[in-house]
Amino acid sequence: MPLYEFQCAACGARDEVFTRAIQEDVPAPPCPKAGGEPGHDMRRVVSSFARHLTMADKLAEAEANFGKEVDAVMGGEPDVGKYARRYEALAKDLPPE
Ligand SMILES: [Zn+2]
Repeated sequence: MPLYEFQCAACGARDEVFTRAIQEDVPAPPCPKAGGEPGHDMRRVVSSFARHLTMADKLAEAEANFGKEVDAVMGGEPDVGKYARRYEALAKDLPPE
């Protein structure tokens, strides 16, 4: 379960929010010390657990985007194995060391 940490910009008090799903816009809880007093704005703190999930999200997103770029560059031939096998075949033509 994703954990989001928030810290009060005014007094530094921290609070944690659990959510069912990974989401970008997590509603900030009120400052646990000020109890709704103005000026105590809770800002998101990236905890190690949350960062891990966020990174996994970003990696999945990057992979999706990168995959599209590879398709565009390779002309719809994102098969890296094909190129590896080609180099392997070329290497067989080389004289032994
Ligand atoms: Zn506060």
